[in-house]
Amino acid sequence: MSGIPLQPRIIYGPILSRRLGRSLGINLLPVNRKVCSFNCVYCQYGEGKVDDSGKNFNDFPSVSKVLDAVRHAMKKPRTIEFLTFSGNGDPTLHPDFVEIVQGVLSLRKELRPETKLGIFTNASRVHEPGINMTLQLFDLPMMKLDAGDEGTFKAINRPAHSIRFQELITGLKSLPNLMIQSLLFDGEISNVRGDSYEAWANLLAELNPKLIHIYSTVRPTACAGVEGVSLQRLNAIAQDLEKRYQLKVMTFD
Ligand code: SF4
Repeated sequence: MSGIPLQPRIIYGPILSRRLGRSLGINLLPVNRKVCSFNCVYCQYGEGKVDDSGKNFNDFPSVSKVLDAVRHAMKKPRTIEFLTFSGNGDPTLHPDFVEIVQGVLSLRKELRPETKLGIFTNASRVHEPGINMTLQLFDLPMMKLDAGDEGTFKAINRPAHSIRFQELITGLKSLPNLMIQSLLFDGEISNVRGDSYEAWANLLAELNPKLIHIYSTVRPTACAGVEGVSLQRLNAIAQDLEKRYQLKVMTFD
């Protein structure tokens, strides 16, 4: 099944985001293909070739191209609440991710110090020291966690062979500003029922993130059989996590 179109350039928006308000998106990935170390069953960009290798990087935008585009976009007179790294795959896969974040932080200081910096990442590189240190610089580092056990993780996120679930969890544990984003859904594979749900909830309790965003799919997904869950059900899950583990959870429809 095909999904929504890829972002055609580095900067997109500002969009009125479900979760961030007025957010200017920064896409560090190529414009003609999804580049991701996961291939989630619910991916809005449809099926993709899993790519975590550090090869095939010659169509990524250069550091100077990204920073020129961000500078230009930030100078326009308009309201921007968030500068958000997201886009056509996972932003941390850009080979110069660390340098680009440092550059964007300098631009924010110079041009719009009140704007917050966010990132949506699948967390597949969070255990790498340089990436981990860089993620600590974000105001809103939203790290994907849809599963609490390796079997469900592999079934839902379909990661590259090189990715180790336990390594990823160790990386998450070492982030002092950890925030989690989880996409919950039902169907043949599910993370809202039974052992999979319990494992996810228990892992969240162990990680104790500062904030958890839960939401479901509202768009076409990569695989058939992914059933979105209602806001009512998400609210019930949020209440369960708050009651059992005193976690701070926000729901989005
Ligand atoms: S991590 Fe995001 S971009 Fe990558 S496959 Fe999953 S949903 Fe798609």
